[in-house]
Formats: sequence, C-alpha cells, structure tokens
Amino acid sequence: MSKEKILIVEDEKDIVKMLEYNLKKDGYGTFSARNGEDAIKTAGKEHPDLILLDLMLPGMNGLEVCKILKQDRKAASIPIIMLTAKSQESDKIVGLELGADDYVTKPFSPKELIARIRAVLRRIKEKDKLPEILKIGDIAVDFSRITVTVKDRPVELTSKEFELLKTLIKAKGRVLSRDHLLDTIWGFDQASEIQTRTVDVHIRTLRKKLKSGSKYIVTVKNYGYRFEDED
Ligand code: CA
Repeated sequence: MSKEKILIVEDEKDIVKMLEYNLKKDGYGTFSARNGEDAIKTAGKEHPDLILLDLMLPGMNGLEVCKILKQDRKAASIPIIMLTAKSQESDKIVGLELGADDYVTKPFSPKELIARIRAVLRRIKEKDKLPEILKIGDIAVDFSRITVTVKDRPVELTSKEFELLKTLIKAKGRVLSRDHLLDTIWGFDQASEIQTRTVDVHIRTLRKKLKSGSKYIVTVKNYGYRFEDED
C-alpha cells in the first residue's frame, strides 16, 4: 500500500519541522505550504490524502483557504484538520461549518494529532467499504462513488454532509442523538453546546441541498434526528 500523503499548511517553520518529523516517523508522506495560495496550488497538484491547515497564516487566512478548497470540485473531498489557537474558538465553528473535518488546538502533542489524523482517514476509508447504491424514495446514495442524487439530479455534498446522511440512512428509522452524531462523525466524545450546534448547522445545509429529499430527515426535538423510512 502506498504511503498516505499529508499536506501541512503552516507558516511557522519550527512547527512544520516538528510535524514533518513526527508524520514521517509514523509512515506518512508530507508536503508543506507556507501560505494559502501555495496550499491551494499544492492541494490541486499533489492531491494529498489529508490537509493540516493552520488558521493563522500570513495573507489569506486558514478559513479562507478552507472555503476555497471545499468549493473546488477536485479538492473538496480531501479531509481537513484545522490547527487552531485557544483564542480562536469561534473560528473553529466557522471552519467546521465550511466543511473542515476536525480541529486540534495548539499547543498539541504529536501523539494527539496523529490519533486525530488516523481517525479522520479511517472514517474516509470506511466510506469505501460500502459498495452498494441505496435508494430511498427520491434519494439515491452511491457509497462507492460518494455521490448522491435526488430525482436523478446530482447533489454536491461536503464530506461531513455525506457522512451525516450515510450515518442517518444506515440507522434508518432509529433516532440518533446529536451527541451520537457528533461522536460518530466528528469524533467528539464530550459535546459542548457549540459543538452540538454544528450538527444542526450541517443538517440544515443537508436538507437545503436534498430539496424534496429533505422530508426524510425528521427532527426529534431537543434530542436528535431520524431518517424516515419510505412507506
Ligand atoms: Ca501560523
């Protein structure tokens, strides 16, 4: 199996060096970019398996980079882990809403970061293990190609939205709590109020994108969501 490649986007040389050293030691290949423009270029050219994105960058900030990547057809599927400072609490949420997969707060230990990277990559791979196409009413989900159509028209979802839809569909008919969804999709085992809101925000955009298919996602007030089976 070929090495998984990680793009490090960070302007602080010492942090880049530390990350490169630890990632290589763990068997990953690395690229690095010092600013947003470089990051976007490298992501397009090298198509890394994952991007570590620092939010504090000179010029274009990390959130802008995240937004551009998630709007790019080719780069949108590359998972992003944000590197944030404690003072950037609200940026974290914006980043997750923009489609970033996870975040790690500085200062972090290499061990913690690598655990997060593994978790994100594992979730992406699990997606590949579902080869079938599932049809519920107007919605068709192709798990191998990671595509969704509603009334035969393709719907563009971010990786998080797709994960959310997949998790709900797999549990069809069963109510899933927001905490459960946070844990399964974002890997947060201790949910805060802000994090719980992330689920609602993603459900909202997912519904909007699914249009007529949105009727299958049912809100269970003050608890979570359920995917309604077609009757
Ligand atoms: Ca920085």
